[in-house]
Amino acid sequence: MAIIEILTIGTELLLGEIQDSNSRYLAKALNQAGLDVYRISTVGDNIARIQAAIIEGLARSDIVITSGGLGPTVDDPTRAAVAKALNKKLVFHETSWTQIKKRYKLYGRKPTENNKRQAFLPESATPIENPVGTAPGFIAEKGEQAIICLPGVPAEMQLLFEKSVLPYLRNKYIQQQIILSTIVHTAGMGESQIDELISDLEKMDNPTVGLAAHAGQVDIRITAKANSKREAENLLAPIENTLQERLQDYIYGADDTTFGEAIKTLLKHKGIRLLIVPVQMDAALVERLQKDGLAQVLPSAGEDLNELETKSKKLYNDYQGNAILVVKEVDDKTIKKLQLTLLFKDTQIKKEYLFDGHEMMLAQWEYNKILGFLHKTFLKLKE
Ligand code: ATP
Ligand code: MG
Repeated sequence: MAIIEILTIGTELLLGEIQDSNSRYLAKALNQAGLDVYRISTVGDNIARIQAAIIEGLARSDIVITSGGLGPTVDDPTRAAVAKALNKKLVFHETSWTQIKKRYKLYGRKPTENNKRQAFLPESATPIENPVGTAPGFIAEKGEQAIICLPGVPAEMQLLFEKSVLPYLRNKYIQQQIILSTIVHTAGMGESQIDELISDLEKMDNPTVGLAAHAGQVDIRITAKANSKREAENLLAPIENTLQERLQDYIYGADDTTFGEAIKTLLKHKGIRLLIVPVQMDAALVERLQKDGLAQVLPSAGEDLNELETKSKKLYNDYQGNAILVVKEVDDKTIKKLQLTLLFKDTQIKKEYLFDGHEMMLAQWEYNKILGFLHKTFLKLKE
């Protein structure tokens, strides 16, 4: 990764007459582009000191970006200082001169011989055309390194930076495009509901936001494309925050966090020991819940729910934990239902979910519904 330093030039800055807003702008813009700024310094309008600052800068960094000192007077010594630092001559650029003259004509003025100074650049430097002022900027390369000189007037500096410098840096120092994704897992809210809440985000180009509905659980994938990992992370973070604000408790985790792990952590955090009593439940699902380790799971009881309800009071007393979840799958040909009964402290919470998906998805749906129910119920619980 290229290391950059910023050098602002101007005696006014050292006298405290103006505030150095240029380096603030450059530092921010470079960081956003994923480039590292290691140092910001300031020197006055003095050839020898600018030259020394550039030589020191190139000893530390890959790129030195300067602002100021590109005007037409002898007080504008940046061009000469860079030439000296690189041990190069100043050479006349006809095209730059033509552009400078054009600018002056636009202002209704005649350029003086002094203005010609602005068309002299260090040998082999590339001029950066200035469409809003007279002073062209330039890029002088030294092997893999570069000195980039921009005018001092903030509006001109910013325009040249955005139009020419940033594309140059991108092309040369940040070639690889990075694609970064994060997946936010939600439960308890349907796909269309989420869709309604975040439709504005789904219309964005970068990052993109997309939904993937699974049985009883919805994932939101955010994908950012950028020139560096940091830039991509900077694109992802605000969207993650917005999702958190809008969906709050419906979010149970991100990326590799599985629903089972999230619930296990939640229960542990709340100090709840859970016993799951499967009255009627798919054997594979019982096994999966056992494997998750979030609760103790009784072997399938295979009893009637009503009977078990009476019995569960006793079970509750016997069980050394403090919550019991009775799970029953009801299958009466036309409709499949999942009935959950939670006994916790002195309350009993009952919930029934209707299944309207494909048979193949039933076990996964039940698993997610059970976990979603636990998530919603216990998250609300006071510490
Ligand atoms: P000009 O052709 O106008 O002389 P220049 O490239 O020589 O351009 P300077 O003479 O150094 O630039 O600065 C021109 C003006 O730009 C300053 O008077 C000041 O108002 C502003 N300026 C210069 N440097 C900075 C800076 N670092 N932060 C904010 N403003 C600056
Ligand atoms: Mg000047």
